[in-house]
Amino acid sequence: MNSAEIKEFAQSLGADLVGIASAKTLNAFPPDPRWPQTPANISPHIKSVIVIACHIPVAAFRVKHNIAVQYLDMLVLRRMDRIAFKIADHLERLGLPSFVTAAQETEWDLNTASYGRLSTRHLGTEAGLGTLGLDVNILTPEFGPRLYLTGILTEIELEADKPMTEQVCIGESCSRCLHSCPTDAVLHFGIDKRNCGLEAQEFGYMTATDFFMRYIGENTKTKKEMIKARDVFGFWQGLLRVVGSFGDCPRCLAVCPVGNDYHAYLAEPQKIIPEKTPEKVAKAKEFKEARKNGEAIEGLNDWNIRWVGKEGYKGIVARQLQEFRQTQKAQATKEAK
Ligand code: SF4
Ligand code: SF4
Repeated sequence: MNSAEIKEFAQSLGADLVGIASAKTLNAFPPDPRWPQTPANISPHIKSVIVIACHIPVAAFRVKHNIAVQYLDMLVLRRMDRIAFKIADHLERLGLPSFVTAAQETEWDLNTASYGRLSTRHLGTEAGLGTLGLDVNILTPEFGPRLYLTGILTEIELEADKPMTEQVCIGESCSRCLHSCPTDAVLHFGIDKRNCGLEAQEFGYMTATDFFMRYIGENTKTKKEMIKARDVFGFWQGLLRVVGSFGDCPRCLAVCPVGNDYHAYLAEPQKIIPEKTPEKVAKAKEFKEARKNGEAIEGLNDWNIRWVGKEGYKGIVARQLQEFRQTQKAQATKEAK
């Protein structure tokens, strides 16, 4: 199978976006060379990575609470994994050795916090599906950051897609992700993973270890009270359905104005950001000034700019919005006839 046939097959199985990244490129450009997340560290035989993305249904971001997104996240991840496995299995049966990575899992021996053997957001950018935003989510022109990605590692040499050089993220003058973040975890094209984890993994690993560290030091009476705490229910629910221990906080995804799903269904309900504070506005302003003045910014340094978009922001979101409005207008005129 060639690249075009594989993409068609992946789409027929339900993948929303498909791209191909060359293993050679991924090996040469690990996201952080100190902890290289590369195909070569998994298998020396990998030649290409087929990257698929599945979007999170936009309706979930119109709901008053976070439960809908949390539950749908799990369903989307399972569906995406099944699609990826079917692709790998199909290639394998054709005599083309291929397998699926553990997309969201953390590798204990690499960097701290959520850090897998491959970074799916970087796979996506190398496969030409989007670029990294201010909050280092991958932003795709189609769905903004409201999606999940995984990779199928294959020993076939496939024609790779070209990464985008235009920055999809509007950048510092937007900063809506920063304004919305309940734990102020958004940095300048970077993320404070620990702060993000407080909301994004409410009952995740850190909460569990913190809880049990406190628990072992308590007397029997307090232990009996602690065991009935909401935390323990959260851990149980997380084990059962993963809900609560992963992908818990949808705020920076919900407010990001990239993607036609945003223009169609989120622009109105997400227009006002209740979490916005004067302090966050000042922080965004500092970021804007720093970039304008050419100050050293780690997220935009010579290494990292590759995934943000070397050309800078050229108005892709405004162009897309204009096209979207024209299509809507044409549709309305057609229906009126
Ligand atoms: S997921 Fe939530 S906590 Fe994490 S960066 Fe986004 S808004 Fe902030
Ligand atoms: S909300 Fe704005 S600044 Fe943040 S990632 Fe999206 S486009 Fe970029």
